[in-house]
Amino acid sequence: MSLRAAGGNQRTHMDSLAPERSPERTTVAFILSTRRAGSTWLNIVLGSHPWAVNLGEYARIWLMPGHVACRLCEADGLPECDVFAGVGAVPVDDAFGFAARRFPGRTIVDASKQEAWCARFLGRDDLDVRVIHLVRHPAGYLESELRRRPETPFETILAEWQETNERIEAFVTSNAIPHRVVSYEELTERPGDAFPPLCEFLGGTYDPDTLQYWNYVHHGLGGNGAASLYLRGRKVVKYITGDDAYYEALRGAPTRPDLRWRERISADVIDKAESLPYAATLRELLRRD
Ligand SMILES: [Zn+2]
Repeated sequence: MSLRAAGGNQRTHMDSLAPERSPERTTVAFILSTRRAGSTWLNIVLGSHPWAVNLGEYARIWLMPGHVACRLCEADGLPECDVFAGVGAVPVDDAFGFAARRFPGRTIVDASKQEAWCARFLGRDDLDVRVIHLVRHPAGYLESELRRRPETPFETILAEWQETNERIEAFVTSNAIPHRVVSYEELTERPGDAFPPLCEFLGGTYDPDTLQYWNYVHHGLGGNGAASLYLRGRKVVKYITGDDAYYEALRGAPTRPDLRWRERISADVIDKAESLPYAATLRELLRRD
């Protein structure tokens, strides 16, 4: 059994509710997901397109006062980022207005992964809010979490995966937010199929070169393993990844999914993961017509 769906265009029932994009409104796409679902990676790949910009965990600037605004400029030892200069004084309601003035006409991609943050920007005339609900295979989430907290029962970790994804689904549905459910495994294993409809939903066209996201300049936040590929070799190293060798091996190689769970998680636990109620919901949502 796989969480991957068969071929064709990916559609969800929310597509019909997606308003037309208009030049007067800034499209802001919030990536919502569990931890370790590939949100930083997806944020950076999308933001490598000329029509988009990735802001990473942009909420930190307002929720953690004094937080650095740009990992890239920090890594270069610069006192302040040119692009985000002054952002610390911007009122939260203008967070995306500020970003839109810095990156005119581009779709803004936010990877703060917090429904409450997204909810603050709903119902506004100047913003066209959309959600990318990114889902990783539950056994992938499990394996990634077990590396960090091996003492935790697998049932507990799988329940987190279930609860978080159900909560996100309820949030976007109850607020009637135009959204796409996307699978990390599909995006990484078959990017040529999975990215074009997602990019179209965000108002742009997919460019496969963006999978080599380290060839592009990225200002803003984002400090985990995926970001380490473009921060490496700079003056100041502050990003955190428990997985440096893995990410180093990815550099320059074709995009491939993190599927280490297939060797590391036993078949019966994978069966349990794939039997979670939300795994069935997800298969339904990813079913292509
Ligand atoms: Zn910068």
